Amino acid sequence: MSKIYEETKFLMKKYGITANKKLGQNFLIEDNVIEKIVESSSLTSEDLVIEIGPGLGTLTKELLEKAGKVICIELDNRMISILKDRFFMYKNFEIINEDVLKVDLNKLIRENKEKDQIKNVKIVANLPYYITTPIIMKLLEERLDIESITVMIQKEVADRLTELPGGKSGGAITYTVYYYAEAEELLTVPNNSFIPEPEVESEVIKLTLRKKPVIEVTDEKKFFELIKVSFMQRRKTLLNALSNSTFNISKEKMEQVLKDLNIDTRVRGEALSIEQYAEIVKRI
Ligand code: SAM
Repeated sequence: MSKIYEETKFLMKKYGITANKKLGQNFLIEDNVIEKIVESSSLTSEDLVIEIGPGLGTLTKELLEKAGKVICIELDNRMISILKDRFFMYKNFEIINEDVLKVDLNKLIRENKEKDQIKNVKIVANLPYYITTPIIMKLLEERLDIESITVMIQKEVADRLTELPGGKSGGAITYTVYYYAEAEELLTVPNNSFIPEPEVESEVIKLTLRKKPVIEVTDEKKFFELIKVSFMQRRKTLLNALSNSTFNISKEKMEQVLKDLNIDTRVRGEALSIEQYAEIVKRI
C-alpha cells in the first residue's frame, strides 16, 4: 500500500471523515499520480497555486513545498479545520471556505499579484466531477490572468476537452478549450487510485492558456452560441439543427453562407473547424 493510502486512512479515522459523494469526494491515494500532477505544473517560488477542492490536503502538501503561495478553495467545512490543523506552520498557505463557482477569481488573483512576489498563477486540482464542466468554463471564460490549469477529471470529459475541433469525441466545449488554450492529456488514472473508487476512469490533463485566442472572431457571443446550438442536435445537419433552434438566422440565409464558403450544405456542425465557424459568424 502506498504512503498516501496509509495517510488518507489515518486522517479519515482521526477526524471521523466519510466521503461525501454529493460533493464528489474521491480522495487520491497514489503517490505517483500526485508526483505527476505536481511535476507537470512546473512550480516555482514565484507561482501562486489556486487549488480547487483540497479535501484532506494530499495534493496541497506537495504544492506548499514547491509554490510561493497556495490558496485552497474548499466547500466542505469539515475539511477546513483538518487543513488548518495540518498546514498551520506553512506561511504560504491560505484557505477559502466557499463554492469555487461563487469566488471572484479575477479579484483574488489581482490582489495577490499586487501584494506578493507572485509572477504566475496556476490552477491545480483533483476536481469534484459533478461540476467539472462549469468549473472549466468559468476558468476559461472569465479570462483569468493564469498560466495553466492542471486537473484530474473524468477520462470521458478529458477526451472531449483535449480533442481537436472537428474531431470524433469533440463537443461544443472542445471549441471553447481550443479557443483559449492548448490542451494535453498527461496520465490515465485507474479507479482504484482513490478512496472511495469513482465509477469512471480518470485522467490528468493540462491546459496551457494562450496569450490571445487562437483565432480572431468578430462576435464572440454569436460564435459560441452558434457552436452550442449546432451541438445540441449533433446528429442533424447544421441547417436542420439551426432551423429547430432559437439561433436567429433563416435557413435560406445560412444555406447561402455555407455555399459562399464552399461548405457542403448537408454538413453537420460537429464536422466544422473552428476557422469555419469564425467565417460563418463573420457573414451573418
Ligand atoms: N484534493 C483531494 C484529493 O485529491 O484527494 C480531494 C479531491 S475530491 C475529488 C474533490 C474536492 O472538491 C472535495 O474535497 C470536495 O469537498 C470539494 N468540492 C466539491 N464541490 C466543491 C465546490 N463547489 N467548491 C469547492 N470545492 C468543492
